[in-house]
Amino acid sequence: MMKRSQLLPVLVGGVFCVAVVSLYRMLELMQRAELKQSKVKPAGQVDEDLSRLQLKIDKLERLLNDNNRLVATLRDSLLLRKASWDKGGQGGGVNGSSNSVLSRAGTLPGCRLAEKMKDGKNGVQLLDVYDLLPFDNPDGGAWKQGFDISYLDNMWDDQPLEVFVVPHSHNDPGWLKTFDSYYEDQTKHILNNMLIKLSEDSRRKMIWAEISYFSKWWSGIDEQKRDAVRRLLGAGQLELVTGGWVMADEANSHYFALLDQLMEGHQWMQRHLGVRPSSGWAIDPFGHSPSMTYLLKGAGLQDMVIQRVHYAVKKHFAQQQTLEFLWRQSWDSSPRSDITCHMMPFYSYDVPHTCGPNPSVCCQFDFHRLPGRRVNCPWKISPQPITEQNIRERALLLLDQYRQKSRLFRSPVLLVPLGDDFRFMEASEWDVQFNNYQKLFDYFDQHPELHVKARFGTLSDYFLSLHKRLSTAGTTLPMVQGDFFTYADRDDHYWSGYFTSRPFYKRLDRTLEATLRATEILFSLTLAEMRRFRDAGHLVADFPARDHFQRLTAGRRNLGLFQHHDAITGTARDPVVVDYGNRLFRSILNLRQVLRSSAHWLLLLDKSQYNHDQSKPFMEMDDVMSAQDALPQKTTLTLSEEPRSLVVFNPTEQLCTSVISVVVDSPDANVVDAETGRPMTAQISAVWVEPSRVSTEAFQLDFVAELPPLSLVVYHVTKASVGSSHRVHYTVSRHGNPPTFKSEHFQVSHLKADAPLSLGNKHFQIWSSSETGLLQKLRLQSGPVRQVQVSFLWYGTSSAKDKSGAYLFLPGAEGAQLYSSSEPPLVRVSRGPVFSDITSCFKHFTHKVRVYHLEGHAGRSLEISNTVDIRSEVNRELVMRLVSDVTNGNRFYTDLNSFQMQQRRTLAKLPLQANFYPMSSAAFIQDSMSRLSLLSAQSQAVAALRPGELEVVLDRRLQQDDNRGLSQGVTDNKLTASLYQLLLEDRGGGAQEVGGASVEHLSLLAHLTSLSLCHPPITMVAHSNSQLPKLSPFRPLRSSLPCDVHLLNLRTLEDAQEAGSPSQEVALLLHRKGFDCSSAPPSSLQCTWSVHEEVNFDDLFAPLRFRSVRRSGLTLLREQDEPESAQQQQLRPMEISAFRVEMD
Ligand SMILES: [Zn+2]
Repeated sequence: MMKRSQLLPVLVGGVFCVAVVSLYRMLELMQRAELKQSKVKPAGQVDEDLSRLQLKIDKLERLLNDNNRLVATLRDSLLLRKASWDKGGQGGGVNGSSNSVLSRAGTLPGCRLAEKMKDGKNGVQLLDVYDLLPFDNPDGGAWKQGFDISYLDNMWDDQPLEVFVVPHSHNDPGWLKTFDSYYEDQTKHILNNMLIKLSEDSRRKMIWAEISYFSKWWSGIDEQKRDAVRRLLGAGQLELVTGGWVMADEANSHYFALLDQLMEGHQWMQRHLGVRPSSGWAIDPFGHSPSMTYLLKGAGLQDMVIQRVHYAVKKHFAQQQTLEFLWRQSWDSSPRSDITCHMMPFYSYDVPHTCGPNPSVCCQFDFHRLPGRRVNCPWKISPQPITEQNIRERALLLLDQYRQKSRLFRSPVLLVPLGDDFRFMEASEWDVQFNNYQKLFDYFDQHPELHVKARFGTLSDYFLSLHKRLSTAGTTLPMVQGDFFTYADRDDHYWSGYFTSRPFYKRLDRTLEATLRATEILFSLTLAEMRRFRDAGHLVADFPARDHFQRLTAGRRNLGLFQHHDAITGTARDPVVVDYGNRLFRSILNLRQVLRSSAHWLLLLDKSQYNHDQSKPFMEMDDVMSAQDALPQKTTLTLSEEPRSLVVFNPTEQLCTSVISVVVDSPDANVVDAETGRPMTAQISAVWVEPSRVSTEAFQLDFVAELPPLSLVVYHVTKASVGSSHRVHYTVSRHGNPPTFKSEHFQVSHLKADAPLSLGNKHFQIWSSSETGLLQKLRLQSGPVRQVQVSFLWYGTSSAKDKSGAYLFLPGAEGAQLYSSSEPPLVRVSRGPVFSDITSCFKHFTHKVRVYHLEGHAGRSLEISNTVDIRSEVNRELVMRLVSDVTNGNRFYTDLNSFQMQQRRTLAKLPLQANFYPMSSAAFIQDSMSRLSLLSAQSQAVAALRPGELEVVLDRRLQQDDNRGLSQGVTDNKLTASLYQLLLEDRGGGAQEVGGASVEHLSLLAHLTSLSLCHPPITMVAHSNSQLPKLSPFRPLRSSLPCDVHLLNLRTLEDAQEAGSPSQEVALLLHRKGFDCSSAPPSSLQCTWSVHEEVNFDDLFAPLRFRSVRRSGLTLLREQDEPESAQQQQLRPMEISAFRVEMD
C-alpha cells in the first residue's frame, strides 16, 4: 500500500505536469497562429512578439524539465520502496538474493555491483586460466604447440565419427590489395565458380562470410544467376555465415561500428536473399571479444567459430575438452547471452592445420597443393591424387588425423574446415578438391567397419548435428566467461602492436563513426518532422531524401568496410591504407552534406522557404578537411557588426554544457544566444602558427553553450569593440632558454624558473612541472593531494631476428626509455574564464592539459590532448605514461569495444608485450579509496606495467615486416592527434577488494564524460546573415534521457518496395549502461536514472511520439520482430535493445 504522504507529491507533480503540458501546447498553437498573421504585421513587431513568446516557452520548458526530473525521482523512489516491500515479504526488511543490490541501490538506484562470478563447477573464467598457465611453450611434437593424442580403434564402435568438411574461402576486403582489386582479380572468379561448381553436384557445399564482396558480386549478375544462388541457399549447399559486411576486428572496433556493419550485412541479406545467418565464422581476427558474441546472439545467431586464440590457451582448452563451450557475458548471471562457440584447436585455419594435429599429414589433403599447381607443402610431403591404388592408405591416414582431432572434443561430431585465403578461384581447384575428397568420403561409406561418416557440410549442418548428439548424450558444454586477448600465435609473438598501428586512421574511424551517428539521428528526425509538417505523411519535395539516404548507406558501408581485420587494425599495405583513408574521408564529407541540409530544414521557422541548392549550401562546417591524411583545420570566420549565425548540434541524448570553439578574424567578439539574446561566456585565445609565433589574422573564440539533448541551437557572433572581449593571459617559459616573443593582442609574461605551475577550477586543482609543463599532482575539491605524473617514453625494438611490425610488438630487452630531447620544451600557460591550459611543445609532440571552468560533468575531468609526429625516427614507439599513487596491485581494467569493462592482470611470467591490451575508449586503475580513469576518443594499446601506472602507445614507426604476410613495415606515419579525459573519483572507501572484482563498470560520471568525448557538438556556420531566413532552434526532446540510457542510433531503414529510398521505419537502438556503485555521481549531474527496468517511451522521448513500436533483434530482421507493443518497454542494464519504430 502506498502511504498518503508518498502519494501526495506524486499527485501534485502529476497535476503540475499536465498543467505545464497544456500551457506548452497552447503556446505552440499561438505561435502557429502568429506565424499566419505575420504576413500582415510589420516584420519588426513580429520578430519582437516571437522572441517574447519564445522567451516564455523557454521558461516553461525549464520548469517542465525540472518537473520531469522531480517526477522521475519520485517515481523511482516509489518503485524502489515497492520493490523492497515485495522482496521483503512479511518480514518487511530487505533480504533475499538481490539484497546487496537493493540496499546499495537505496543510495544509488540502478547501479550494477561488481559481482563475484557465479560460475559453478562447470564454468571457466579466463582470468583464472591466465593465473594457472605456466606459459612455458614446450615442444609438443607433431602438434608443436600441443601434445600427443592417443585413442583406441574401438572408440567409435557405438557412435560413429561424423565428419563435416566445410569448404570456405577467406576473402579479405582489402589487405595486400584494395577491396576493388581483390574483387576484380580473385573474389569475382571465386563466386562465379561457386555458382557453377556447386550446381554440378548437390553433395558439394560452401560457406561465405563477407557480405561486402557478396553484395558487390550480386549487383553484377543477372536474374538467372540470382535464382541459382537462391536455389543453392534453399538447398543448404551454400550458407552465408555471420552475415557481417566484413569479418570485423574485435580489438579496436567500437560496438557502434561492429553492430552497424552487422546490420548492414543482415539487412542486405534479408532484402535480396530472404535468408538470415545462424552461425558465426571469425577465423582471422587477431583475438576475440565477448562484445562481438553479444551482438551475434542479439542478432539471432546461435553458434559461432573462432580461431586466433593464444596457443597456450588453446592447448589448455584442448586438454580440458573445453574447445566447445557456451560463451557467456561476464556481467550476465543468466544464460540469455550464451552462444555456442567452437574454438579451432590448431595454429591456423588453413588445411594443414584443420584436418588434425599433424600439419605435414594434413597438408597432403590440400589438393590445391598437388604437384604442378601454384602452391606446395612446406613440410616437403606433397599431396597425391586419390586413386584406386592409394585410396585405402590415404583414407586411413586422413581418418587417423580426424580421430586424433576428435579426441579434443566432447562429442563424436567433427568440424573440418577446408579452405584458405582466396581459395576456390579456378575451376580446376574446385575439381581437385571436391573430387578427391568425394572419393575418400565414398570409401569411408563403403567401409562401415571404420565407423566414420564424412561429407561436405556447412556450419549449420555441423552445429545441428552437434546439438543433436549433445542432447542425446545428455552432455552440456562448459560455460566460459572472459575474452581472448592478447593473442600470440607462437613463442613470444604477441599481437599487441596492431592495437596502435596506424593511429591516424584509428582516430579517423571514430570521427566517421561520430559523424555517421549524428547524421543518422538528425536525418531520421528530419523525415519525421517533414511527415508531421505535411500531415499527409509525404516528404518535402525539395528535400533530397533519396540522395541523402544513399549517402548514408555509403557512409555505413565505408565505416563497415573499415572494421575489417586488416583495416582498422592498421595491417594493410600502404596503398590499401590510402584507399581506406579516402573512403573514410569521402564519407565524412558526404555525411556532412546530409547533416547540413537536415539541419537547414529543421531550423527554418517558415518551412516553405526551404530549397536545396547543392552549389550554394546554406551552411558550412566550421572546419575543413583537406585530405584523407590531414588533420581538420578550423576555418577563419570573418566578423562584422552584423551577426554571423553559428548552428550547434548536440548529438548526445543529454543536456550538456560544452565549450564551442571557432576561429575568427577579430580579437574582439560577442556571442549571444540567437533566440534569447543572452550573451554567452566567452574567451579569446591566440592561434599559434608555431610554438612561439602568434597569428595576427586569426583568433580562437571559445564560448560556453548550454545544449539541450539532440538540439540544434543558433548563436550570433559579432565583432565587438576593441578590448571588450575577455582575452586569455599567457605565461611562457623554456628552461634555460627563455623564449622571446611579443603579441600585440595578448598579455604575455614569463614564468620564473622554479615557480610552481598550477591550474584549477571549483572541482579540482593540478600542479605541473615548471620545466616541462607535464602534470605531477592532482587534488579533488577537498581531498588529499594525489600523485599523477605524466611522462613520455620510447620503446625500441628487439635486437633479435624477430622485430616489431604492423602486428607484433617485440620491444627491446631494455624496455621503455624516458623521452628526452636536447632542447627543453617551450611551456605555454593560458588562463581564461572558460578554460585554462598548459601546452608543452616537445620536438616529437605537443602535449596539452586543459581545465574547464564549467558546471556539470565537463568541469570534473582533465582534458589531455597530444599531437604526435615521429616521422624522423627509426624503429621507435612513443608512449604516454601516468604514474599515480593508486594502489591497484597488478589489476587494471580496459574496455572491450566500449561495450563493457574487462579486468586485466599484469603478469610477470609473461613478456612485456603480452601485458598490453586494447583500449577503445576507457581504462582505469583503482583501490578502495579512489579510481583513476583514462577515457579516450580513439583506440590504442594500453598497459599497467607497475602498480599505480597506466600507459598508452601513441604511435609506432617500424622499418621491417614482422612475417605475417604483409611484407612491409609501418612507415607511413602522419601528424596524429589523440584526445583523452582523465578522471579521478573518490570511492569513499566503499570498495572491499583491492584492485577490484572481476566485473566492474564505469561510473555514471565517467559514462557521461566518455559520451561527450566521443560525440562532441558539431558546429556549422551560416554564410552571411543578410539573406538568411528566420531560424528557430530545434529541440526534439523535452528532457535528457536517463543518464544510463544511451541512444546508440536512430537509423532510418531502407524502403521494402523502393530500393535505395528511406522508409518510414526507423531502427531505435538503446543501450542501458551498467554503472559503478562505489562512487556516487556528483549532484550537479543533470539527469536521472532509475532502478526499474521498465521505461515508458512516451515519457522518455516526449514530445516525440512513436506510432508503432516493435521490439526486434539487434539487426532488425523481420523474422525477429515481436508483436507491436505498448510504449512501456523493458531495458535491462548492460543490454542493447532494438526497436522497429515509426515516428509520428
Ligand atoms: Zn583475413
